[in-house]
Amino acid sequence: MWRLSKGWCQNIIFERMGVWAAVTTCALGDMKQPANFSSALTRAGLDPSYWAGGAQVHGRQVRAVQRLSGPKVFSSTDGMITNTPGLLLRILTADCVPVFVADPVAKAIALVHAGRRGVQKQILKRAIDLLIKKYRAQLCRMHVTLGPHIQACCYKVHEDVACDFQQYRKAVAPYKKDKHGAMQYSLDLAECLRQQAQQAGLAGKRFSAATPCTAHHKRFFSYYRTKTEKRTAAVMMIKG
Ligand SMILES: [Zn+2]
Repeated sequence: MWRLSKGWCQNIIFERMGVWAAVTTCALGDMKQPANFSSALTRAGLDPSYWAGGAQVHGRQVRAVQRLSGPKVFSSTDGMITNTPGLLLRILTADCVPVFVADPVAKAIALVHAGRRGVQKQILKRAIDLLIKKYRAQLCRMHVTLGPHIQACCYKVHEDVACDFQQYRKAVAPYKKDKHGAMQYSLDLAECLRQQAQQAGLAGKRFSAATPCTAHHKRFFSYYRTKTEKRTAAVMMIKG
């Protein structure tokens, strides 16, 4: 599903649809540094001067991006959609879920940053709705794929957070008590997103969550594992 090439992890399914969907690995450095991001794009043969990113706030704002005159970071934005070929969308993560959505017929894509707050706020549903409304995308042609993120094997939360996800069946499971005696739970964000996509009307076979766990695999930055400030970039673009 994901192929490693030139420091990038590229999604093969999207590639077949004419969509570049990829995430950087640690080998390419901290993507918060503009110089690192530019050289990562150049390495992949992409234009480092034509991309849109979001100043992420763990919110639910999804923005439609049509045209750019240079790199642009939109304020308070955790998701973007476009139908402009060659326009690259970017988000930054270190454990949160990068969610890639594409309708290859409508030639429309969405890239969403979904941490636990974004999942709670149903940002994926917002992106799907906007793709349908703005670009006439259709659920029967849409594909949703999750990129590398922290998975249930490593993601432990306390009861206050676990309670917020009770409505998602099988997404929360008791784990064990921490050293202070407080119960911990494992939280499966992919399962929450799968159920949200299903509730939006997406067929199960159009949803894929086969991806490495960032807290497990040292190839990716993980805030949970190391409290790092460094970030991985997830990018998506319709090939021109
Ligand atoms: Zn893990």
